[in-house]
Amino acid sequence: MSAASEKAAPCPICGRPSEPAVAPFCSARCADIDLGRWLSDRYVIPTDDEEESEPPQKRSE
Ligand SMILES: [Zn+2]
Repeated sequence: MSAASEKAAPCPICGRPSEPAVAPFCSARCADIDLGRWLSDRYVIPTDDEEESEPPQKRSE
């Protein structure tokens, strides 16, 4: 039986064994990295292309 090593899932950030205190991460640093990614994902600014949908085309006539 080897349930001890299979109990904890690896850290999604670095792949190390996760620590219960900061599960599912292995350390507070990895948890912080994941949080940063999550925040940066939320802060994605939708590109406003409406203003540039019609580029100023100079008539060459
Ligand atoms: Zn980690």
